[in-house]
Amino acid sequence: MANNELTSPESHPAVSRREEETLRFWEENKIFEKSLEQRKGAKPFVFFEGPPTANARPAIHHFIGRAFKDLFCRFQTMRGHFVGRKSGWDTQGLPVEIEVEKALGLKSKKEIEEYGVAEFNAKAKASVWKYQEEWERFSKRIAFWLDLEHPYITYDPNYIESAWWVVKQAAERDLLFKDYKVVPYCARCGTSLSAHEVAQGYETVTDNSVIVKFKIKSPLKTINYKLSTINYLLAWTTTPWTLPGNVGLAVSSDISYSAVLVDDKDELLILATDLVERVLSGHSVKTLSTFNGDKLLNLKYEPLFNIKELQTEAAYQVYPADFVTTTDGTGIVHTAVMYGEEDYQLGIKVGLPRFHTVDRAGRFVETVPAELAGKAVKDPATEAIITNYLKEKNLLYKEEAYEHEYPFCWRCKTPLLYYAMDSWFIATSKLKDKLLANNDKVNWYPAHIKDGRFG
Ligand SMILES: [Zn+2]
Repeated sequence: MANNELTSPESHPAVSRREEETLRFWEENKIFEKSLEQRKGAKPFVFFEGPPTANARPAIHHFIGRAFKDLFCRFQTMRGHFVGRKSGWDTQGLPVEIEVEKALGLKSKKEIEEYGVAEFNAKAKASVWKYQEEWERFSKRIAFWLDLEHPYITYDPNYIESAWWVVKQAAERDLLFKDYKVVPYCARCGTSLSAHEVAQGYETVTDNSVIVKFKIKSPLKTINYKLSTINYLLAWTTTPWTLPGNVGLAVSSDISYSAVLVDDKDELLILATDLVERVLSGHSVKTLSTFNGDKLLNLKYEPLFNIKELQTEAAYQVYPADFVTTTDGTGIVHTAVMYGEEDYQLGIKVGLPRFHTVDRAGRFVETVPAELAGKAVKDPATEAIITNYLKEKNLLYKEEAYEHEYPFCWRCKTPLLYYAMDSWFIATSKLKDKLLANNDKVNWYPAHIKDGRFG
């Protein structure tokens, strides 16, 4: 059994010594340079190193990827190709900024501005070379042949110009377009997060959930009740900060709804029949009418907040949507187009206004009334302003603590907002046939990737 045991490299000094002797021989005799010299003018095999960020030390996972890259380059060199092997350094991106922020003890964009943007950038630029020597030594020691003398550097204007050239190519081919996409967004970091990043940051929290009364402009005709009674649609949300951005309510044609009187008050509340008991428990409830969701379509209701940019023809109406269920809430879904993927899709479909009531710093914009402008949306004090405002207008039916899983930024622990970001996109879907045709020519290992991930 002893022969199969893993042993440390130190216990094989001869192996280490042999490797180091070989490396020295390569270096002294400029073997890599000669491999290029001898193949000048031959058909090139183009290799650009996927660039590491040198603000952290190389680790064992960097070794395996580089071993594979080296293998292919050596093979192509042996086949007679000219293999230039350009090295590169990734010097941009949030990881760099975050490290510098940590080192300087800065906690927000505002603090960076106070520190000085130019000074901050200089620190960031210096930080990306912190472990350059370690990386170069690492590359050499693992026998990864690479042209370290002429790297491409992503902050270099030459490189940036090339990146813009690529964007220009897309524009000239009519592949570039601007659109919104609802993404999980950290207002502190000022950046969206990938699904993988979001998955790392879920926590069980208790949020303030509210059931809001949306006042219908004219009473439901199908209900035989005195006309003076105000009709309200009840909708539920765990994110009160999205209420100023409300522009629609969604119902389902497959759900039965009831109009009920509660505690003999002179107001009619409308919600899914299946949820009457749960939502209105503890009250005396008198059902006046039960009907299908279709009856509610196109009903107009009064805005909760007076925001003129949202007041279009299509806004503040009831629309059908297939995502409405009776699992939670009231069976009527509050729709804030810019703050949810389903909301956004419904908004596009029926033409609801796309206007942000929240800025990228996570604060309400100027046009939001009730002294909310400039306030951080997830701040409990801001939520209190919203709920008090609704209470005063008799538009809050119920407020209660709600425990659920909510995503936080894994970097800075700020609660994420689902936020419609306007971004530029490249319409790769237009190139699908070409991509598939080229994929057919690729010799994939393992073979299942060809028709699996890339098929
Ligand atoms: Zn963050």
